[in-house]
Amino acid sequence: MRFIRNPALAILASFMAPAAFAAPAVLCPATPPPQPAAYVAHIRDVNRSLGIPPDYTARHHLVPQPEAKDLVQVPRDVYGRKVEMVAPAAAALKKMFAAAARDGVKLETVSGFRSMAYQTHLVRKKLERGMSIEKALAINAVPGYSEHQTGCAADLTTPGVPAADSSFAKSKAFGWLERNASRFGFHLSFPPGNQYGYEYEPWHWRYIAGSSRP
Ligand SMILES: [Zn+2]
Repeated sequence: MRFIRNPALAILASFMAPAAFAAPAVLCPATPPPQPAAYVAHIRDVNRSLGIPPDYTARHHLVPQPEAKDLVQVPRDVYGRKVEMVAPAAAALKKMFAAAARDGVKLETVSGFRSMAYQTHLVRKKLERGMSIEKALAINAVPGYSEHQTGCAADLTTPGVPAADSSFAKSKAFGWLERNASRFGFHLSFPPGNQYGYEYEPWHWRYIAGSSRP
């Protein structure tokens, strides 16, 4: 502020500066920003308690994801349960559902935001049923690393297809998404042979801010 000679202007600038520099955090960026050390340590402790090998996430190119705070509702899931996403993702999803409907395609939600605690519960349940940790992590994301906890991702289906089922890839709805989802900023996260070690998930779509094409 030294360069402002006029005292009145300097005072004005001192009021304006915080607003000008405090850029709001972008929700749903292509790459999540580094997460606070205490949060990363918490994730590590939780995953150690599940028996996840310490090098698992690095081997699978996974990065810690922020947990969404402010959520809004999107269409209820196929079981009638409330589904939530962060506002920009929710708005894009609603637009996409409406556009699909105009083309005679009915899209439905299966899942949106999931907290890290709930994700931990999902993995723990599988382990308690006797599933190996490797198999469980091919189905459920590592807690702390799930796109669902950002509130930017949704699992989708269409009438006649079971939730989170590979047959969704053969549906008319999936064909529509392949052609149109990117117009709304939604992208398939886990194609066949993805680097993260997850099974092919044709139902899992993630909203990325600023990525929608006209
Ligand atoms: Zn998913």
